[in-house]
Amino acid sequence: MKILISTLHTKAAGLVVGLSLVSLSVTAQVSSTEATVAAIVQEANDRSQLKRLAHELMDGVGPRLVGSGKMVQASDWAIAQYGQWGIPARRENYGTWRGWDRGVTHIDMGAPWTRSIEGTQLAFSPATKKPVTAETIILADAADSLAFQQWLPNVKGKFVLISMPQPTGRPDYNWNEFGTKASIEKMKAERTALADAWKKRISKTGLSNAKLADALEKAGAAGIVASNWSSGFGVNKIFAAFTKKIPTVDIALEDYGLLYRLTESGKQPSISIYTQSKELGTVPTFNTLAEIKGTEKPNEYVMLSAHFDSWDGGTGATDNGTGTLVMMEAMRILKAVYPHPKRTILVGHWGSEEQGLNGSRAFVEDHPEVVSNLQALFNQDNGTGRIVNIGGSGYANAKDYLGRWLAAVPKSITDSIKTNFPGMPGGGGSDHASFVAVGVPAFSLGALNWSYFNYTWHTNRDTYDKIVFDDVRSNAILTAILVYMACEDPERSSTEKAILPNGPNGPQKWPAPVKSKRAGGYDN
Ligand SMILES: [Zn+2]
Repeated sequence: MKILISTLHTKAAGLVVGLSLVSLSVTAQVSSTEATVAAIVQEANDRSQLKRLAHELMDGVGPRLVGSGKMVQASDWAIAQYGQWGIPARRENYGTWRGWDRGVTHIDMGAPWTRSIEGTQLAFSPATKKPVTAETIILADAADSLAFQQWLPNVKGKFVLISMPQPTGRPDYNWNEFGTKASIEKMKAERTALADAWKKRISKTGLSNAKLADALEKAGAAGIVASNWSSGFGVNKIFAAFTKKIPTVDIALEDYGLLYRLTESGKQPSISIYTQSKELGTVPTFNTLAEIKGTEKPNEYVMLSAHFDSWDGGTGATDNGTGTLVMMEAMRILKAVYPHPKRTILVGHWGSEEQGLNGSRAFVEDHPEVVSNLQALFNQDNGTGRIVNIGGSGYANAKDYLGRWLAAVPKSITDSIKTNFPGMPGGGGSDHASFVAVGVPAFSLGALNWSYFNYTWHTNRDTYDKIVFDDVRSNAILTAILVYMACEDPERSSTEKAILPNGPNGPQKWPAPVKSKRAGGYDN
C-alpha cells in the first residue's frame, strides 16, 4: 500500500499543473480523502493489532458475562489499551445486576460404567459445596398439571433430565451430504414428532421454564440436567440457570443422549456433579466509552458501537469479541491517521446487550446531547465475517450520505457488500436499534455468517479459533473509513423517515424506544 500512496501523490501533483485555483482546491480535497483512505488501509494492514487484542481479550480475560468480575476486568483492559493509544476512555455505570463468577464444573458418570461427561453449569447456576452423586430421572410425561404434581416427589435426590432426546447428533448439512432422500425425510419427521411431543410434555406441567425449575428444586431434586443442542457437531447453547440452590448444567448432545437412553432403558445411570461458582451480590453494570474530540464540530458525534458483554459458555469470540475488535482497531487506526477529526468520534462498548440492549438503551436515555447531535452510528454484532449487508435503517435519505461514504471505501471491500436503501428500522436485534428507536441515524454492519447461528452464537464453541482475521481486518478498515467520511461530511445526515412498506398485517410502524433494564438478574 506504500506504492499506492506515492502513486496518489504523483497523480495529484500531475493534475495540479496547469489547472485553475478552484480546481486545485477540489483536487486537493479529493486527493486528501484518497490519501487518508490509503493511510487507513496501510495502517490496518501493516500494523494490525487484531491478533494481540483478540488474544488478550478472549484468552487473557475470557468471557464477559453481565455482573461477572471478568466484565470489570475486560473494561479495565480496554480503558488501559485506549490509554496506550492516547485515546481517553472511561467506564460509565448505569445500573446494577446480580453478580456471579463462574467456577469449575466437573460431571462424571459412575454407573453403569465410568466416563467423564462433557458439560458445564449454566450462567448464574448455584454451586455445590462438594461433588453430588445421584441417579438420573427423566421429566415425566404426565397427563396434566395435577398428574405432574403427583409425580413430582419422584425427583427427590435425583438429577432431572429436562431436555428432549435428539434422534441424531449429525447436523442437517451432514445428512444432506450422505443421506438418501428417504432417510433424510424419515429423520426429519421423527425429529419433529419428538420435538412436538416434548413441547407438549413441558406444557402439560402447566409451568414456565423458570417455574418448572423452581418446582423441581422445591421437590428436592439434586440438580437439573439440560441439553440445548445448537444443531452442529459438538455444539450447545449455554444460557442462564433458573435454580436458586441446586445446580443446573448443560450436557453435550452426545453424553446427554447416552444418559437419556440409559435412564429410559432402566440401566440406572448415576452421575456426580461438582459446580463451583461465586455469588457477588449486587454489582454495578456499565458501558465502556472512548472518545477522540472533534476540532470543528466537537458537539456533533460519529459513533462506533459493539456490545462488550457475552454469554459465558465459550469466550464470546464472535459474539461479540469480533465486533469489539473491529471497533477498537478502527479507533486505533483513526487516532493514528486522523487524529483531529472534524466531529467527535465516540465508541460505545455496551454492557448487558444479551439481557435486552440494556447498556445502549441506558446510554440513549442518559445522553440526549450525543443522541440529538449524532451524525451516524455503526454497530457490528453478528460474527466474524466480512461485512456483506448495509441497510439504511428506514431513513429516506440514507442512500445519499451512506452512499457517499461508501464510495470512498476500496472496491475490494465494497464489492461484497449488498446495500438495502432505505431498508428497515429493524427491531431489537442489536444495539443500533436503541438509537434507531429514537429516530437518529444508526446502522448495522451485517457480516457474512460463517455458520454463526449454529456454531458460535451463544455456544460453548465461541472461541478464539473461530475468528477469521482477514475478515475482521477488512471490517476495521471499512468502519474506520465510514467514520472518517461521516466526520468530514459538510452536511448533517438526514433523519427523515421513509414510508415503510406494508407487512403481513398492513402498514408497519417505526419501532418505539424500550426502557433500559437497570437492575435485575436471573433469580425470577
Ligand atoms: Zn451479540
